[in-house]
Amino acid sequence: MSSAVEQLKQHLGEIHDLSCASRVLGWDQQTYMPPGGARQRAQHRATLSRLIHSKFTSEETLRLLDAAEPETQSLPEEHDDRCLVRIVRRDYERSRKLPSDFVAAWTRDASLSNQVWREARRANDFPAFRPHLESMMDYARRAADYYGYEDHPYDALLDGYEPGLKTADVRRVLDVLHPAQVDLARAISQKEAPRADFLYREYPEGAQGEFGLAVAAEFGYDLQRGRLDVAPHPFETDFGRDDVRITTRYDCHYLPEAIFAIFHETGHALYEQNISPSLSRTPLDSGCSNVFHESQSRLWENLVSRSRSFWQRYFPRLRQLFPAALADVTADEFYRAVNRVQPSLIRVEADEVTYNLHIMLRFELEMGLIENQVGVADLPEVWAVKMREYLGVTPPDDRDGVMQDTHWSTGSLGYFPTYALGNVMGAQIYETALQADPGIAAQINQGRFDGLRGWLGENLYQHGRKFLPGELAVRVTGRPLDPQPYIAYLQHKFGELYGL
Ligand code: ZN
Repeated sequence: MSSAVEQLKQHLGEIHDLSCASRVLGWDQQTYMPPGGARQRAQHRATLSRLIHSKFTSEETLRLLDAAEPETQSLPEEHDDRCLVRIVRRDYERSRKLPSDFVAAWTRDASLSNQVWREARRANDFPAFRPHLESMMDYARRAADYYGYEDHPYDALLDGYEPGLKTADVRRVLDVLHPAQVDLARAISQKEAPRADFLYREYPEGAQGEFGLAVAAEFGYDLQRGRLDVAPHPFETDFGRDDVRITTRYDCHYLPEAIFAIFHETGHALYEQNISPSLSRTPLDSGCSNVFHESQSRLWENLVSRSRSFWQRYFPRLRQLFPAALADVTADEFYRAVNRVQPSLIRVEADEVTYNLHIMLRFELEMGLIENQVGVADLPEVWAVKMREYLGVTPPDDRDGVMQDTHWSTGSLGYFPTYALGNVMGAQIYETALQADPGIAAQINQGRFDGLRGWLGENLYQHGRKFLPGELAVRVTGRPLDPQPYIAYLQHKFGELYGL
């Protein structure tokens, strides 16, 4: 007779298999599926999600948890099995608050809504998307009611991406970031912009992908356990640590888009590929939370790949691939161009100084939506007003306005703030890594990333979801989420770049 913990793992392992299968279908939907497959694919995924949800929320899970718990109580607090029981019980209590039929209906409608969003965005047709978006907002509000909350319905949704995070915590951090980032953006706007004309020249897709993936491999992305494809909205997904995939999108007349998306998604992938194998096929075989995941994508995309020493190292190689387009450009000019600050329409293309302003705008709108202060029909107009207020730009259409992101198309409310907090956590973690091993920064200049990756693997990646985000922050950096390292990083880097 195997132990109760082993029986629990066997049960959770089957659920894990089903959810990996569902993610394969999701990956295919975003990459290779012909548009005609949407309706049937929605049905496939709805069935899987219903199976996953009902199996996980079953009495069987509760019985196995109850049996396993006493076996793990005498283990050290950090033992995999003890963490497994604790985290799974929290997940269980949360997810059984949603009825299975509700989850299946949401999944099915979200899949279709996402498909409509893709077509409506291409056609710049917000009215076609609007009824689906209304339905998604309704699902999100109903989910908040099912989950329950003390202070604000948004807390219930945030908890799904960042367990334990409250609306008030988000406000506290954004309130510190807001004036600092607005002041910095304003000071920079008084300065002369660096040249960036060369970024818009002719850059064949093939060579962009070749460069991005070669650098990703040097970061440590294991291509025996990974691959790169094209998707309309870049993402990373994984089916266990041995199959971790990334996507990007190409613009042959704008070089930074694809390569920085590759570096960003590689940051996510490094996290997933380096979770301890002892956690495989369990619910702990995943990054800790959205904030921690985004901290890693932003760390590799920005703190590493937008640094001066990175481009001193890699610009010569880039110029070999694009000799005509980069003939009259120096490494330093390239570094300045990919860090130029310019209020813009698109969040994913925003520079580091204005990026969080895009998030603050979305956070305010999500507050309005969840509180029924903003109607879906009014979104394009409210969006435009807020864009002018926060960034001083006016969207020419809805494609590059309210329809630019995929998140709302599936009812994912509460997700956006984790991007801003991820920036903050990335800087906090990087600062800690540099204090522990000051040689890390110099290694970037030599194209060596093993020091940084090793430190992150040891201190962060290997733990997967063993700890709650608030606990992991203290474990990795010695303190809770703190906006100061990010603000100091921005002020130092952009102060030097713009001579402030
Ligand atoms: Zn990301």
